[in-house]
Amino acid sequence: MIVLLAAAVLGIAVAACGPTLRRPAHDNYAVRVEQERQQALAIAAEWERLRRLDAIAGRMRMAASGLCAETTWWSGFRLADLYSYGDFMPSASRRAGLSEVPELNVVVPGSPTARAGLKEGDSILSINGARPPRGKEAVRSLMETIVRAYRSADPSLRISVLRGVRTIDTVVTPEVACSHAVDLARSAETNAFADGVNVFVTTGMMRFATDGELAFIVGHELAHNVLGHIDATRANSLIGALLGGVIEGLTGAYGMTDTGAALGGLAFSQDFEAEADYLGLYLHARAGYDIDVAKEIWRKLAIESPANIDFALTHPTTAERFVALDVYAKEIRRKQAAGRTLAPEGLR
Ligand SMILES: [Zn+2]
Repeated sequence: MIVLLAAAVLGIAVAACGPTLRRPAHDNYAVRVEQERQQALAIAAEWERLRRLDAIAGRMRMAASGLCAETTWWSGFRLADLYSYGDFMPSASRRAGLSEVPELNVVVPGSPTARAGLKEGDSILSINGARPPRGKEAVRSLMETIVRAYRSADPSLRISVLRGVRTIDTVVTPEVACSHAVDLARSAETNAFADGVNVFVTTGMMRFATDGELAFIVGHELAHNVLGHIDATRANSLIGALLGGVIEGLTGAYGMTDTGAALGGLAFSQDFEAEADYLGLYLHARAGYDIDVAKEIWRKLAIESPANIDFALTHPTTAERFVALDVYAKEIRRKQAAGRTLAPEGLR
């Protein structure tokens, strides 16, 4: 009896939750078309973010090259083809303009590639005489050619492209840059992190920060790598954490979710954080950014996460970081005024 009564109650509840409105039907084909359109928009938005991030990161990595143990070459372009976004969105990739032939999907304005006259959308015929194979290995094969050139005595790239019906042959002369690459992490979290080798900035942070603030954040994470704050074993576990989606980074407790908190042991010490801010601001100055802008990021993050204004676990408080940056900026200005080299005190 009790069971029957319960079932009756449940039945009523389910009925009450069911749809009752008579909505006009929509077309599944229209949904598929819209999916493709949204995927193409997502691809275009990603290129826009990469263009912005690469412009800032390139400038910071070149500025860091004199203080960085290992350097490489920077040209300021990215390659993509029909396979870059996986098999799941080939028609969207076509709509975004991609084909079987790899093309320059990002060319940073003012970069060595832009100065060589190359443009986004140019299709790669060959690099240093090597033609890309047809199919899914094309971009990887070209990247290998580029890496070989960068490791050789002559890092310049002889690039032949097709633009419309015109073939253009040019030479890109790359510039020296700190070897730590900077890339985008697809995450809504307002964060950035370093894994000892590379630097990652989340899409959430890209939305949040101005260009000047973003440059400081890239500088802070580069500084962690330059100063060797993360050893190889830790770097591996951090990469694992990154693949898991969340990792301790720039904003400490602020950016942490449960997963991040579980990885608390990986957090940098407060001294390492302060040190990364210190070197990071020097890199910011060397790259020609306004060093008074950098500290504003800590006020903005404080507004987002008031708990971090006076609570510190793994990172200094946002208030301490703001005040410290102001002091570092004064030291940098004194050196600028005296015409001295912009390098932090005590850097080996
Ligand atoms: Zn940090």
